[in-house]
Amino acid sequence: MTSGAVDAARNILTGLHEVMASRQHAQAKLNTVVEVIGESLHSEVCSIYLLREGMLELFATRGLAQEAVHVTRLAIGEGLVGTIAEKIETLNLAEAAAHPDFSYRPETGEEKFHSFAGVPIVRRERAVGVLGVQHVERRRYEEVEIEALQTVAMVLSELITNAGLIDDEDTASLDPAHNAPEQLRGLSLVKGLAQGTAVYHQPRVTIEHIVAQDTEAERQRVILAFDKMREQIDRMAGQAEFGVGGEHEEVLETYRMFAYDEGWTRRINEAIDSGLTAEAAIERVQQRTRMRMRQIDDALLADRMHDLEDLANRLLRIVSGQIGTAASLGLRNDAILIARNLGPAELLEYDKRRLKGVVLEEGSLTSHVVIVARAMGIPVLGRVRGLRGYVREGDMLLLDAEQGMATVRPSPGAIEAFEARFAKNREKQAVYASMRDVEPVTKDGTRIQVRINAGLRDDIANLSLTGADGIGLFRTEFQFLVSATLPARERQTRLYRDVLDAAGSKPVVFRTVDIGGDKTLPYLRHDDGEGEENPAMGWRALRVALEREGLLKVQARALLEAAGGRELNVMFPLVAEPWEFDEAKAVFEGQLAYLRKTKRMLPEAIRYGVMLEVPALAEQLDILAPKISFLSIGTNDLTQFLFAADRSNPKLAERYDWLSPAILRFLRRVVTSLEGSNVDIGVCGEMGGRRLEALALLGLGIHRLSITPASVGRIKDLVGKTDLGEIEAAMRGWLAEPPANLRETMHAWASARGLLTD
Ligand code: PEP
Ligand code: MG
Repeated sequence: MTSGAVDAARNILTGLHEVMASRQHAQAKLNTVVEVIGESLHSEVCSIYLLREGMLELFATRGLAQEAVHVTRLAIGEGLVGTIAEKIETLNLAEAAAHPDFSYRPETGEEKFHSFAGVPIVRRERAVGVLGVQHVERRRYEEVEIEALQTVAMVLSELITNAGLIDDEDTASLDPAHNAPEQLRGLSLVKGLAQGTAVYHQPRVTIEHIVAQDTEAERQRVILAFDKMREQIDRMAGQAEFGVGGEHEEVLETYRMFAYDEGWTRRINEAIDSGLTAEAAIERVQQRTRMRMRQIDDALLADRMHDLEDLANRLLRIVSGQIGTAASLGLRNDAILIARNLGPAELLEYDKRRLKGVVLEEGSLTSHVVIVARAMGIPVLGRVRGLRGYVREGDMLLLDAEQGMATVRPSPGAIEAFEARFAKNREKQAVYASMRDVEPVTKDGTRIQVRINAGLRDDIANLSLTGADGIGLFRTEFQFLVSATLPARERQTRLYRDVLDAAGSKPVVFRTVDIGGDKTLPYLRHDDGEGEENPAMGWRALRVALEREGLLKVQARALLEAAGGRELNVMFPLVAEPWEFDEAKAVFEGQLAYLRKTKRMLPEAIRYGVMLEVPALAEQLDILAPKISFLSIGTNDLTQFLFAADRSNPKLAERYDWLSPAILRFLRRVVTSLEGSNVDIGVCGEMGGRRLEALALLGLGIHRLSITPASVGRIKDLVGKTDLGEIEAAMRGWLAEPPANLRETMHAWASARGLLTD
């Protein structure tokens, strides 16, 4: 803003401040406002149009015929005023009548005025009115005048809201462009359907006051807020989860660039100088940037705009003290969460009964937040480009994470069609649920073990709901993720005991903590406090547990005590070499010896197993096999290491396929190398919960699957229809001579045999 604009705006704001504080009636206030603005800008006409019953109505004017007040009404998109409101943009015209949208209203007596400038009065990103000035003389308005008008429009927005001059119903029906249904495409990360209201993980801040009482104090508030924000961004850069590379790094770099941009701070300070509060100044500058950006049609710039929006919102949150996420504010019923991305711990903070779905701008199939969502039974649509540009807080959303799309602000017809599908889907689920007591036996008589993955206390119920054969993977780190501090031994014991009690005679495989990678804990940082460049391959899982032996000891004690008098199945994650298994087992044996000495009740039997997630271990299975009872293949990590493709990098989410000869041949070798041993072999990665993938695993000779509970019915159904001998033979052929597209080939094969029908 130039200094002329600052002065002009400041004069007007001082005048408006008095008007707003006065005890006048709202209409009288508006009449005074047009006088104050008109005088300060030396304009012959100053008018305010406000939205009433979907029309823009002339509410107050200086210079036009008074008889036109509350008489002249324009539809959205009609005339210059309607165009400004529709497009939320400023018009600056030397000859108003020459504009194609000009619509002459004789009752106003405006024919003698040639030039026209108008700005939208915006509330919640929608126009609720228009402020305009007119002159007899043909002239384009100077930038200073336009900026002053824009600032004043912000204040008017507060005034008319406080005075109840417009109602929110009207705002909701304004701006057809923004209210039109919108269909967004994405990647189905957790399948399912949901209907609900959009809730931003980080909500937009509401601005309470626009006009400042003490400009210097506002300046100080902004300086402090900027300091704090920069500190946060710098800290994020130091955090492991942001060191992964790819998009996070880019985002962070952009954030930093914006956070340290002097132009931005300067513009905010100028807006404060014109009389705004810190919050209003940030918003004012943001509005202006938004308007400019809207005119540029460039996807990359639009992305950057989201970054800036994110940051401006962060700044607003800091300055206004409205810091919490939607989780801390509490969800209303039927919420669909909107975010760029989420960490698993952040998702776990939400009330599962109220959260119906998640839509992310990023995300990938095996990132932990998605696994957590899957465990919670919440559909997730990811990789939705430009998401936050289309969805506003409170919008109605139909989430179709079966077909990879979401409808924002759906039409009644769309809702009806969706509800019909929803009902059908529930029927399908009911059919699967009715398979609860069906044993998964193949057509040729082989009993397949179908177990579930779990990690939360609430998951235990899924065991009886699905009729699964046990818990094949209990991710113990989830308890750590939801805790603010390291869970004490007693708490761990309690959880494990509850799980075992609920499982009864069915087996439960407890995996020791797999912390690190994308599952970071604020209270358990790397020793030197440094972030890691490559956390998925870094200090995580068993590596952490062995180095921080105390952690594993406590967990071992908790598990051994919880399993007193029963069988305990322990599984170690991310084992790369047999000696790692030896060391981990030694910790358990040490604790066992201690318990024995103190005459506590011991487990009836302990079965040790490992996860095969690191390809190197496959080369030493002959050495490991005699020591273990079972091996569970973690295809999520295994594939990321086999393909050298970060599982949480959205850019790689669709690049490699589980049904690739590379993975399937690798798995075949693992199966073959354990033939003749006493090691039970199974798969507990997400791969096993998908029909074609599960079929492939059966074809490879894997008869134990541990999958997400929602897939149990579907997989049991598949097993019952499958002829094991036939798929084994087909798989041998495909792996000997892989077809060009194994997925397509398998799909055709399975469809022809009716394996994919519901
Ligand atoms: C895996 O890596 O496949 C696995 C099951 O473990 P997680 O997804 O918890 O890393
Ligand atoms: Mg893993």
